[in-house]
Amino acid sequence: MGALSGKTALVTGASRGIGRAIAQQLAHHGALVAIHYGHNETAANETLTHITRAGGKAFLVRAELGTPHDAETLYTRLEDTLTRHHTGPELDILVNNAGTSGSARIHDATPELFDHLFAVNTKAPLFLIQRGLKHLRDNGRIINISSAAATTAYPESLIYSMTKGALNTLTRALAKELAPRNITVNAVAPGYTETDMNATKRTTPHTTAALAATTAFNRLGHPTDIADIVTFLATDHSRWITGHTIDASGGTHL
Ligand code: NAP
Repeated sequence: MGALSGKTALVTGASRGIGRAIAQQLAHHGALVAIHYGHNETAANETLTHITRAGGKAFLVRAELGTPHDAETLYTRLEDTLTRHHTGPELDILVNNAGTSGSARIHDATPELFDHLFAVNTKAPLFLIQRGLKHLRDNGRIINISSAAATTAYPESLIYSMTKGALNTLTRALAKELAPRNITVNAVAPGYTETDMNATKRTTPHTTAALAATTAFNRLGHPTDIADIVTFLATDHSRWITGHTIDASGGTHL
C-alpha cells in the first residue's frame, strides 16, 4: 500500500517538466492521477506511458487554461472520466502546476502580457480551486506551484513574478478558509529547474553554469527535486503545515 493509495489527484500541466515529475511521483505512491495538459498531447501520452509502465494508474484530461470557462471545461471532462471509468467524481489532491513565463522588464510590459500571464498563472488556479472544492474531500490537499521569483527581486520577469506573488497570497488566505475541513493549502516555490520553460536561458555551458552558481549546491534543480516536496505535502505526513510557501530553490541567493 502506497502512502497515497485510494487517493485521486489532479495535476495541471503534467505533460512536461515539473508537472510530469509530480504526476509520476504521486502515481508511484498509489494515487490515481489525472494528467492535465493544454496542447502537447504527445508529451501528455508520454507521461501516461511512464506511469502505466511503472504500474501506476492515470488518465489524460485536456483543457486550455487562461481561456473563458477553463475551469468548468477541465472539471466537466475530469468528472466524466472519473465517473465512467473509476470511482466517483471526488478528488483528494489538486496540484496547480501549469504555468507560463514571459520575460519583460517594466518598460517592455504590455497589458496583453499582463492579462495572459495572470490568466494562466493566477486566475486559472483560483477558479480551479473554487470549482474543485465542489468535489474535494475533507482532509484534501491543495498545492500551488509558485516560484522563487515571487520573493527574489527579478525585474527581468516582472509580471511573471507578480503572478506568483499573488499565488502565495491566495495560498495563505485559503489555508485559513479551508482549515475547518482539514484541507491544507500550501505552495512550493522552485528556483531554476531544468525544464522547457527556461531552455532558452541554458543555451551554452557558460549560461547554464551561471544559473547553477546562483544555488547553494551549484546545480540547477531537477523536476524530481520539486516533485518530492509536493509528494510530501500530498501525504498525511504534512498535515500540520498549511498556508506556507516552501522554498524549493536549492538555496538560491542565500
Ligand atoms: P514547462 O516545462 O513549460 O511545462 C508547462 C506545463 O504547463 C505543460 O504541461 C503545459 O501544457 C502546461 N501549460 C502551460 N500553459 C498552459 C495553458 N495555458 N493551458 C494549459 N496548460 C498549460 O514548465 P515547468 O518548468 O515544468 O513549470 C511548471 C510550474 O513551475 C509553472 O507554474 C512554473 O511557473 C513553475 N516554475 C518553474 C520554474 C523553472 O525553472 N522551470 C521555476 C519556478 C517556477 P502543454 O505541454 O500541453 O503545453
